[in-house]
This record gives sequence, structure tokens and C-alpha cells, in this order.
Amino acid sequence: MTHDYPFFFTWSAQHAAKPLELTGGQGAHFSTKDGGRWLDLGALSYQVNAGHGNKRIVDAIKRQADELCLSAPNAVFPAKVELAERLLAMAGPGFSRGKVFFTLGGAEANENALKIARAVTGRLKNVARYRSYHGASMGALSLTGDWRRAPMEPGIPGVVHVADCYCDRCPFGKQLATCARECATNIDAQMQLEGPHSVAAVFLEPVPGANGVLVPPAEYWPIVRAACDREGALLVADEVLTGFGRTGKPFGFQHWNAVPDLITVAKGLASGYQAIGAVLVSERVAQHFDERVLACGLTYYAHPTACAAAVETLNVYRDDKLFENAERLGPVLRRELDAVKQRVAAKSFVRGQGLLAALEVEAPSIEWGVLGGELAQRKLSLHVDGKRGTAIFAPPLCITEQELVGGIRSFGDAAVRAFGAAT
Ligand code: PLP
Repeated sequence: MTHDYPFFFTWSAQHAAKPLELTGGQGAHFSTKDGGRWLDLGALSYQVNAGHGNKRIVDAIKRQADELCLSAPNAVFPAKVELAERLLAMAGPGFSRGKVFFTLGGAEANENALKIARAVTGRLKNVARYRSYHGASMGALSLTGDWRRAPMEPGIPGVVHVADCYCDRCPFGKQLATCARECATNIDAQMQLEGPHSVAAVFLEPVPGANGVLVPPAEYWPIVRAACDREGALLVADEVLTGFGRTGKPFGFQHWNAVPDLITVAKGLASGYQAIGAVLVSERVAQHFDERVLACGLTYYAHPTACAAAVETLNVYRDDKLFENAERLGPVLRRELDAVKQRVAAKSFVRGQGLLAALEVEAPSIEWGVLGGELAQRKLSLHVDGKRGTAIFAPPLCITEQELVGGIRSFGDAAVRAFGAAT
């Protein structure tokens, strides 16, 4: 009875919410109060990149709490300095002498990226895509293109949405083999129509995640980068979901030959062990604020326990070679999902990059409801979205090949029950 709880459940009518009585976990599994042990193929809300029950990260938080648990926005302490240095090094060329702006999560990172882009360019307009999610605060939600934006419209002024890189259902009616990458060139055209030199920033998830894992063609990012350069607009990579090895690279944009001006991160930054996000600002943009006021701030800016958790999370990624594991297991995940696609009767598509993948199935919502029940019986947790016809996979990066293969095959059994078997 969810209405008995004295707090709201998110993105849900309260009486329709499904409480998750989480009690702990280990590696790729989490446990629930009824004694259930679930295979987490979705990393809870896509944040548990380092896996459940990681003692190293918990111990780092405890050590930091003992040493220094309170801070002020202008405080300087070792974990804060180390975290910023390591994030900038991870971002690579153009960022080594940049700066980090810390936040408490992903929406706030995008909110501050909006402000930084406006301050630097003096412009009001921003470009984002329809099949995107950038966070639930007003600016980030205005950038968001999916269903979560509409109930709060009108949002902030000046956001222009453009068509998606959705190759399986190209909005331009093209085929990947013969198209001219219209999804990317259209962003340039759209900026011209909005008025030359009027766009502050283009916000893109390197691979739109919750909206269906829409992996772009290799030319997409370089084309958009060139358009931003011509227009004097900033390119913002929203790496909140794709960052920290999710796609097999430290950051998703690193698959392609194009470097953004700002990178927003959260989720995998501390693997969800503490609430922390950040905007990584390239050197060229950061310099703007050397002599000008940065009109951004938060009481809990760079909270010590969050910084310590994030530093230790980065150590875990490095020592356990988790980004490499995501890169190695990406093709395994694709192979297994291709096998599921062959097993089900309904028309379906598989897309993926690293340990982020989607199976899109053309099936009525009642069959998606059946899938939910079948997955619960098998204790498989993932992101099932009947409205958009997708099942999205994003397991902790520490998942083993055996766990992954077993989990996807079990998912396949559930999918056959829900969508029918291919003849
Ligand atoms: N950006 C992307 C790409 C996301 O997937 C999310 C969350 O799902 C956000 C931003 C918002 O992050 P948060 O929920 O930490 O505010």
C-alpha cells in the first residue's frame, strides 16, 4: 500500500507506485526485504557502475566522515582537489587546464551548464533533442525532449528541439547505408533558421540512454562539433548516464573524433554511493571566468564525503579494470540480445554500445505488462518501457560474462512468454 508511506514516489501516481524494499547487495545483484536476490541488469537508476556492496567505497566515505565531514563552498581539502584533477585528466585534450564545477546530481549539472553557456556566449537559445532526458529541474526538463517535459510546459524560454539519430526509424526516412547523416546536418540547418549566432549551446547525450540507446553514426558528433564551431555555440556532452565506462570508454563522446566544451556527469561518478555531479569545463571556456564572476553556487558544493566516495570509485574503476570489462562484454551483450531478437515473434531491433543496450520490440502495451511479470518471477531487474517499446540493459560494470549471459538468456525466456516465439 504505497499511500501508507509518508513520502512521494517519483514519476508516478502515488497509488500506482511500486516500492522496492532494498536491503543491500553484492556485485551485480541486489537483495530485497522478502529475501529476494535480483540480478541488476539496470544498475538501479543507471548509477551503480562499480556494483553493489563495494566495501572500498563505503570505507572511504567513513574515513572522510571521521576526518572532515563538513565543508563550505570555498573549502579546499585533498579529496576535492584530487577528484577535480582526475576528472579533467579523464576528459582528455582541451580539459587538462580546465575547471570542474561540482553539483549534487545530473539535473543540477545541466542547470549549471546552461548558466555557464549563457554567461560565456551572451546568448539565450539552446538546442536539444526530442528523444532525450537531461533532468527534472526546470532548465534541464526544458532541454529534455521526452514525455517528462510536457506536464511542466512552458519551461525556460529559448529551447529548440531537433530530430533524433534514430537509425532504425530514421526521422528523415533515410537508410544508414546511403544517408548523408541528415540527423546531424539538420542541427546546423536548425541553428541557421533560429538566427545565425543565436544558439548558446547544443546539449547531447553521446548515446541517448533512457530514450532507447540511440547509437549515432560515427560522423554524427564531428558534424555537430563543426556546426557549433561555425556558430560559436558550445557543445555540451551530457554524460550523466554514459559516463564512467558505461559505453566501454571513460566518456561516451570518446568513441568519436569530437571534443565537447562542457561535460556534465553524475550517476557513475560516485556509483550512487553519494549524491554528486559535476560540470567539466574545458580550458577555453573556463578562462572566461578568470576575471568575470561565475554566478553559480551551492551550499553543498563538493561535499567531502561525496568527493571521497567519487575518488575511491575512480580507484575501483581503475584497479578492477571495469571500463575494460564494459568494453569486452559489450559485444557479448549484443550477441545475446541478437539471439533474443531471433527467438521472439514480434519485429524487434537491437542497439548497444558497451554495457548499454536496448531491445526494441513492436508489441502492444499488454504484452509489455506480461513481460514485467515474467521478469519479476525470474528476479531480473532492468528498464522496461512499454510506452516506448524498449527494454534497456545497463548492468553494473563488474558483472561477469557468466552472469550477463545467464541473465540475458533468462530475459529471452521471459520475452518469448510475453511476445510469443518466432516460428
Ligand atoms: N542526464 C541524463 C542523460 C540522465 O539520464 C539523467 C538521469 O537519469 C539526468 C541527466 C538527471 O540526473 P539526476 O537524476 O541525477 O538529476
